Amino acid sequence: MDKTFHIVTFGCQMNVGDSDWLARALVSRGWRQVPEEDAWLFVVNTCSVRDKPEQKVYSELGRLAAYRRAKPGLTAAVGGCVAQQIGRGFFERFPFVRLVFGSDGIAAAPDALDQLAEDPAARIALLDFLSAYPEREDVLTLSTQVPAAAFDADAGELEAGPAQAFVNIMQGCDNFCAYCIVPYTRGRQKSRSPEAVLAECRVRVDQGAREITLLGQNVNSFGLDAGGTGVGFAGLLRQVAAIPGLLRLRFTTSHPKDIDPAVIRAFGEVENLCPALHLPLQAGSDAILARMGRKVDRARYLGIVADLRQARPDIMLTTDLIVGFPGETEEDFLQTLDMMERVRFESSFSFRYSDRPGVAAARMTPKVPDEVGQERLLRLQSLQNGITKESLKALEGQETDVLLEALSRRQDEGGDFWRGRDPGGRVVNVRIGGARIPGAGPGEAPCVTSLCGSMVRVRIVEAKNHSLLGEPCPGSPDRGAR
Ligand code: SAM
Ligand code: SF4
Repeated sequence: MDKTFHIVTFGCQMNVGDSDWLARALVSRGWRQVPEEDAWLFVVNTCSVRDKPEQKVYSELGRLAAYRRAKPGLTAAVGGCVAQQIGRGFFERFPFVRLVFGSDGIAAAPDALDQLAEDPAARIALLDFLSAYPEREDVLTLSTQVPAAAFDADAGELEAGPAQAFVNIMQGCDNFCAYCIVPYTRGRQKSRSPEAVLAECRVRVDQGAREITLLGQNVNSFGLDAGGTGVGFAGLLRQVAAIPGLLRLRFTTSHPKDIDPAVIRAFGEVENLCPALHLPLQAGSDAILARMGRKVDRARYLGIVADLRQARPDIMLTTDLIVGFPGETEEDFLQTLDMMERVRFESSFSFRYSDRPGVAAARMTPKVPDEVGQERLLRLQSLQNGITKESLKALEGQETDVLLEALSRRQDEGGDFWRGRDPGGRVVNVRIGGARIPGAGPGEAPCVTSLCGSMVRVRIVEAKNHSLLGEPCPGSPDRGAR
């Protein structure tokens, strides 16, 4: 049997990171990552934070079922949050699904997939939660370049180039916010050892990563669970930041209730810590925040924002917001708009509340009618779009450093457009005339390795709705540290 695979990823950065690891682990065992039409094995890495991502998983498997008629023998594995929830139920509903694995089970998934390839009758479920962070086999030192897995993540801009690395520092969550399924599908919080985090970060930098994003559901409580070794998140941040060759350090996500003053200070003191923080607010009304169990009120949140801006005046703040939480009145919703205006988030992910099975909010009433939730979402997004536009516009004419990630989708005849990010994380498309390798047409692949990971000094020439357009300052892109 030809060991070929294709991975589709739904959900958050954690899932993107998990798929990347799984792809490397399979390649190290002799599997080949191929386009979907050539694959024997499909891995669907799933998300169930809201109902919509969960529905996408079923429609993806339905699509595969149809596909399978033309390709008998095709096998699927389902991983992530929906796999944890539905478990063996997938075996009955979609008989070509032969492996289900949850967030702790992924470490054993490569062995299980080898077993499926050997034994056509095998069906395997890896759904147990473990008591400690399940350290995975080291596949980073692979010389093989593994192409990024196909994905349909929540934040479509998360596509990482080889200059960026996402490194997990913990798994699960202990917070049980009333709306959230994560503690049920990803289990209780388990911190990884600081040594393992540092070792992975060093390897990533040695391999060419210039930017690292540390990942966890609530990085601010790193080290405060049974897996803790006395090193808290602020300590870990400083240790990772000190790795020679690392130009940029980011992290996500941060629950505001746990943010340590030492982390706030780090924004003013640690040079390569990017001036960017994703700080989910969820709602602007104290009554709703209390019902959500967030343990932070408006005043505390605004106090944190003031402290952050004092430590790092150019810090770019982004957030997550939910509208239509059970019991949310128009008055409550106006408080969310008010917080958006006060903080002036650079951008936000906003969601309509979606009932998830078993969470506390599923039993809360009154539910907000769909059309009201939808209308609030549009109002919120329209306010955000205006703020985003204004803050991008204010950057026109300014200079900034852009770390180039990949060729931009936007191309024209005058040179190659590269997509990169400024220190805050804003997307900047930069036209680099003459950087093209001889013989390559606009946007053709030979350019891909030439500037990826270069730091370019750029002047912003135009603000678009959600991104910036820049041109290199004289002397760039050669000034890049690579
Ligand atoms: N751990 C992160 C935090 O506390 O900020 C968030 C993780 S969650 C995977 C990502 C976002 O999904 C949340 O911040 C929240 O806005 C949204 N979310 C979670 N459950 C939801 C639900 N039931 N309905 C709508 N949005 C939800
Ligand atoms: Fe979910 Fe709250 Fe944990 Fe975030 S902190 S993962 S929203 S329970």
